[in-house]
Amino acid sequence: MLGSRDVKKMIYKEFESAYNNQIKYPDKSNPDKIHANEASRCTRLAYYERKNPLPPDSNSTISVLIKDSIRRLFSNLNSEYKVDALSILASADMIVDGEYVVKFELVSKLPATPHPRDLLYLNACLFAFDKTDGILIYTNIDGDTVEFSLTRNNRMLQEIVRRAKILSTLLKEDRVPIVEPCELCLSCKYYERCYAQERKNSSLGFLGLGKTG
Ligand code: SF4
Repeated sequence: MLGSRDVKKMIYKEFESAYNNQIKYPDKSNPDKIHANEASRCTRLAYYERKNPLPPDSNSTISVLIKDSIRRLFSNLNSEYKVDALSILASADMIVDGEYVVKFELVSKLPATPHPRDLLYLNACLFAFDKTDGILIYTNIDGDTVEFSLTRNNRMLQEIVRRAKILSTLLKEDRVPIVEPCELCLSCKYYERCYAQERKNSSLGFLGLGKTG
């Protein structure tokens, strides 16, 4: 606190407003437009972000702002892949030599293998931009990097199309997707919505620690 003013709160509000300006959804009200970012991560998370979003927590706000600041240094190209009435939108950080689609991911720890979510996303970019090869670059805050290459793959495309169609249908029918347990859950702002009920209802009876009489 500085005097009677809560400066931390004021700074956070500024972060929040910058975050809201940065986050660009496809037309949120149009379930026929699904971003590859939505279809490659937890479908339930994507649904909540469209239908009943919680404000961002401070960690994700700062992380998104840092990522977007880095991405603004690059071209940030947008394209889409059409399947019947559905459009899968994709954004690439750059296209090198008119040939290689490049996607950066800022991470706290460099991975030994690429995350399937990031591969699905990059593969969607390859189809949206009609390119054959992509490069996924993980970088940490110290500037260390690790790169993985990807050649476009029809099976991975089918998977993201399948996920995008499910999300699109559930958005139209106002049905919340099932929980997709993954490592993201632990830091997800919707954790309480997905798991709190189960936690409250559980008892230790199965361990013989329930009521005795
Ligand atoms: S807690 Fe897990 S299942 Fe629930 S919305 Fe978040 S990532 Fe999805």
